[in-house]
Amino acid sequence: MVPDIALLKNKQQQIQLPNINSATPSPGSIVSTSSPESPSSSSPSCPGRSGSTSSFPSSPENFSSHHSNTHHHNSNDYSFYHHQQRSPRPPTNYHRLSTNKLPVCLVKSQLLDRIQNNETLIIIGETGSGKTTQIPQFLYEHLSSSKYHQPSTLPNGNCTSSSKVTIGITQPRRVAAVSVAQRVSQEIQCRIGDLVGYKIRFDDCTSSNTRIKYMTDGILLREAIHDPLLSNYRVIILDEAHERTVQSDLLFGIVKQAQRLRSGQKRPLDEDSDSSNGGQRHYEPLKIIIMSATMDVDNFSRYFNQAPVIYIEGRVYPIEIFYTESKHTDYATACLSTLFQIHQEEDELTFGDEPTRQNNDFSLIGGDILVFCTGQEEIESMIKIVQSYSAQTNIMKTSKGTVKTLKAYPLYSALPKTKQQRIFDRNLNDCFRRVIFATNIAETSITIPNIRYVIDTGKFKSKIFSPKTGFEIMRVENISKAQACQRSGRAGRLAPGKCYRLYTRPEYRSFSPFPIPEIQKCSIYSVLLQLIALGISNVQAFDFIDSPSIENIQSSLKKLMKMKAIEKENDSDVDYKLTKLGRTMVKFPIDPRYALLLIEAQKFRCTEEIITIISMLSVDNVFDTSMTNEKVIAIHRKFASSEGDLIKLLNVFRRYREAQQKMTWCQENYLRSYQLKQAGDIRQQLVDLCKQASIDLVSTPSTETVRKCLAIASGVGVGLGANIAEFQRDGDFRTITFGQNDRPSMTVFIHPSSCLFSQKPECVLFVELVQTNKSYMRNLCLIDRKWLLE
Ligand code: ADP
Ligand code: MG
Repeated sequence: MVPDIALLKNKQQQIQLPNINSATPSPGSIVSTSSPESPSSSSPSCPGRSGSTSSFPSSPENFSSHHSNTHHHNSNDYSFYHHQQRSPRPPTNYHRLSTNKLPVCLVKSQLLDRIQNNETLIIIGETGSGKTTQIPQFLYEHLSSSKYHQPSTLPNGNCTSSSKVTIGITQPRRVAAVSVAQRVSQEIQCRIGDLVGYKIRFDDCTSSNTRIKYMTDGILLREAIHDPLLSNYRVIILDEAHERTVQSDLLFGIVKQAQRLRSGQKRPLDEDSDSSNGGQRHYEPLKIIIMSATMDVDNFSRYFNQAPVIYIEGRVYPIEIFYTESKHTDYATACLSTLFQIHQEEDELTFGDEPTRQNNDFSLIGGDILVFCTGQEEIESMIKIVQSYSAQTNIMKTSKGTVKTLKAYPLYSALPKTKQQRIFDRNLNDCFRRVIFATNIAETSITIPNIRYVIDTGKFKSKIFSPKTGFEIMRVENISKAQACQRSGRAGRLAPGKCYRLYTRPEYRSFSPFPIPEIQKCSIYSVLLQLIALGISNVQAFDFIDSPSIENIQSSLKKLMKMKAIEKENDSDVDYKLTKLGRTMVKFPIDPRYALLLIEAQKFRCTEEIITIISMLSVDNVFDTSMTNEKVIAIHRKFASSEGDLIKLLNVFRRYREAQQKMTWCQENYLRSYQLKQAGDIRQQLVDLCKQASIDLVSTPSTETVRKCLAIASGVGVGLGANIAEFQRDGDFRTITFGQNDRPSMTVFIHPSSCLFSQKPECVLFVELVQTNKSYMRNLCLIDRKWLLE
């Protein structure tokens, strides 16, 4: 159902707004609420907060329990303000779903007051308090009401563009942007893409009516390239700021700059402008709101010119935290045994009985379980184990004689959207307990219905760049306290929850308070190229919230110079601008090395093949490895190539096209049709961009030519970078450093998943390094060393 926006507006105008004049802005406040469901609100102890501890009875896997209260009283010098009022006013009429008991709703008017009086605001509130779903709605109501905003009316009765209040909310992950937008559109009963929409890479679900727009931070960053003033937005909310992705770190600087540039600047005449008042209007100031449950407030406040901080206290449902009593070396086993114990021992309730189904009330049926894992492969192997136990353990009689079934589901970013959606559509008629194995994409923002138990392995997979070796390596690391808090916060959103942490209290204490900003551990040449494309010529002087190391900046600039993507501006030592080649490169939403490889491929007359390889590398594993029996292995082997994995990927895609991209063909070959379809879509986008950039689309039947192209581009440090290794007499591989003698060479191994695994190729190119106990090369391509000298 599409809401009538005019009607909505009328209703909003009836809502009384806080008296803005009587508000006394304070440098920061604690707005506290206590909600009926939780007289003594409890929450995991989050970084930057103090918590008290109490004991709980013994629990599965020898957990010691920890129950902490949220009383974050002044450890800093923010003043605070207690608010005990329950509900300031009845819920707004258009809310179909009742959200008025959420902590943020209880302090709505105070919140709007603060937002009104401050151009930048930092909001901290417990997970589940309503930040992500409610605050954008409050703002929309508030800003489009006549009291605050006087829309200029044109003689024809239409409003000027200034009355188009758009609120942009960024999320670090796509799944969050989509699921939260869906939830908000349900709450206000509008069709997704109308008043409320989302935009993520390759999927724009917004329209000219969209006023509340959820998007990934990468999307807003790309928009800033064309519109540095972010003139389409009245408010930007940077949500889950603690995640500190490279993109969000850049955005902090970009929105801060846009806010500064907009203040006092005149808006050029546009067709909507009211010419009767002399034509030009000022830009409306850009409001910035930074939100999280767990962030380094002092750092953020300092960065945003001492922006005030608001704490919203209280959570709707309590969460109990349990720690293991002793350290586990094998978290996978600990995880499964905890899972089965929860399944067997928790919730002595009949699943999905009649009253439950009728009242749509999840509190009457048993809770589902969310498990945090490190990656797709681990998730799939855990699911296999759960399934293999199904005959014995999955269906269990409890002491009360009820029968419980356990069903496992995966959740990771490469999963098809429909399968991700399945997680959010909990059907009460499904009388079984669900266990969802997820990567950290489920860590922030999202509400998965009926999750009451969280198992936190305490690990995540992270990419780490070493400027010394020049390699970016994937490895499993401990999470931070902020992440632990977010993970436990996925429970307790719709009912009381429990979180089982598979680490000890002392281990938890040793975790760093916040995640290390990605920008300080990743390779940043692509970030710097983006900044230069944004017109920021002196990247070293960019206002980073936490700057990458000078060493990393300088080596990245050197790399971009070598790629001929940038050049010095006016003989300056610090200012750079894009070259013509650089301008073409930034048109492609892919790693600049890949963009350059694509451009270089024209020389080898193999752009079609290179586009295919890049598209296949941009999606997750196309081989379905959820079942690995002899038959599947034999079928997959048919695609193998003695020329390596990249040619294998090329072969798979060619055969997929010959089979007319049919799903049945994918199933017969145990290939993931969604991944292949996605590769096809990305490929089409790249082809379109090539046409726009006048890049020749040419194809070669010779796979040797393709390998040569990959090798030579890599030899000059582009394409796949200088990721080349040579077989040694002693049986190891060592990386080659091309004229970069400052780079040490490394001993590396072929990943067992490679089709070259059991061979001893003389010289190989690889796409990535994965580190476990050794450094493994993944996605290999056989090359001839002689080519590198050409
Ligand atoms: P925060 O951003 O503060 O963590 P949210 O705004 O995401 O909180 O969610 C607030 C509350 O709204 C949740 O605790 C939950 O009760 C409810 N909610 C949010 N999304 C959904 C959903 N998809 N289904 C059911 N309830 C939801
Ligand atoms: Mg949120």
